[in-house]
Amino acid sequence: MNLDLHCHSTASDGALAPGELVRRAAAQGVDVLALTDHDQLEGLPEAREAAHAAHVRFVDGVEISVTWRGVTLHVIGLHVDPTEETLLAGLRSVRSGRLERAREMARSLEDAGIHGSFEGALRHADKPAMVSRTHFARYLVEIGAVSDIRHAFRRYLVAGKPGYVPHRWAALAEALAWIRAAGGQAVLAHPGRYALAAGAMDALMLEFRSAGGEGIEVVTGSHTPDQYALFAALATKHGLAASRGSDFHGPGEGAELGALPALDARLRAIWRHWEL
Ligand code: AMP
Ligand code: MN
Ligand code: MN
Ligand code: MN
Repeated sequence: MNLDLHCHSTASDGALAPGELVRRAAAQGVDVLALTDHDQLEGLPEAREAAHAAHVRFVDGVEISVTWRGVTLHVIGLHVDPTEETLLAGLRSVRSGRLERAREMARSLEDAGIHGSFEGALRHADKPAMVSRTHFARYLVEIGAVSDIRHAFRRYLVAGKPGYVPHRWAALAEALAWIRAAGGQAVLAHPGRYALAAGAMDALMLEFRSAGGEGIEVVTGSHTPDQYALFAALATKHGLAASRGSDFHGPGEGAELGALPALDARLRAIWRHWEL
């Protein structure tokens, strides 16, 4: 069974509309798909309907931005109830502030010789309130400042670079509480991306689990094969389930839908109790 439990549509920073995304997943052989837009549930109805038509099983998901010990983390909610008020209100609060952050990013990029990036990024965003670094990255590629999205991040958009503006997202305990209130399962996204010392990574897993987190991503587009093994071991060590997701954002922008290796069969999969 091919499960892809992490991807993005134009409802956040993906390049494809929810329906197109689902049809692409079906064409790639995905059997079970979770749409997990950043801090946003608006893509779910269209995706769910398209999945029904394409005979893909669909999971309502979300990826919540969190600040933990000063580091930005992402927490996935799977099987969340998209009408649940605690979650909706929480996500609204996380989203507020993106537009103002984007203005600051553009001012700072202006000083670095990049002009017009606020308007430019917004042109790439479906909804201004969801503007993200990814939209700035697409603008930087568009004007030829960099050759691709990866370089846009490396040269302009990560900590220490001109377009990086620190931002305060949700607290870890809040994000987990919203996901649980909405009946979902919480999965720590791409742990290999976080710049944490080994001790802090263990502390994160302990805190995540004791606050109700159930799993971590092991196989993701953000991990190297060595990291699949490393985080498989950490999942086992901390009694957390394992998940698999491409983190697909668009054609040619990273991992393809449903194309990563399968989870090691010895791992406890996050979907083990799902009716599939
Ligand atoms: P934001 O929520 O606006 O800070 O944007 C975060 C998004 O930027 C992530 O969800 C990824 O889609 C993308 N991103 C972050 N770091 C990188 C990177 N190093 N390379 C490519 N995309 C990245
Ligand atoms: Mn993203
Ligand atoms: Mn993420
Ligand atoms: Mn993601």
